Amino acid sequence: MSCGKCNTVISPAKSAVCITCDTSYHPVCTKLKTLTNYKINKDFWNCDLCLSKLKNISTRNKKTDISYVDESDLNYDLDSVKTDFRNVLQKIEALSKKIVTIETSIKFCSDSIDDFSSKLESAVKKISVMENKIEFYEQKCNKLEKEVNFLKGNICNAEQASMINNIEISGVPKTANENVS
Ligand SMILES: [Zn+2]
Ligand SMILES: [Zn+2]
Repeated sequence: MSCGKCNTVISPAKSAVCITCDTSYHPVCTKLKTLTNYKINKDFWNCDLCLSKLKNISTRNKKTDISYVDESDLNYDLDSVKTDFRNVLQKIEALSKKIVTIETSIKFCSDSIDDFSSKLESAVKKISVMENKIEFYEQKCNKLEKEVNFLKGNICNAEQASMINNIEISGVPKTANENVS
């Protein structure tokens, strides 16, 4: 592969390729001068030869065609493209800083959520333990209530039984300090 201008060897990675004639050039052999300039204009770069042909056509036609820029326009465009590019780069940098901040807070949030869900899990476990205890005590309570009622009934029966055994004796004069039991 050789340069369309100086005819010396050129490596494809470092060459500028014209979109019109498909010829490769050393960027330094063209008005581009640097590979960086080429990379910025890669998709619409015409070699100097094609550009002058295009200029002749456009001046002959007296038609303004925005795809055929003249040299001064191209330089102007290069500068504005560079500025735009730098602005975009700065914005990307600012954005990536913001993304890092957001990532940090997302990580914090997810850690908090993890912490919260483990707490919730242990709370749920405690609640179910308590529910079991409550059920146990409710059963115990019912049992005790039944026992109390049963004992009350026993006491009642015992009282009635003792009343039956009590014989009321009347007509016996009461003596002071007499043992009646
Ligand atoms: Zn060359
Ligand atoms: Zn060309």
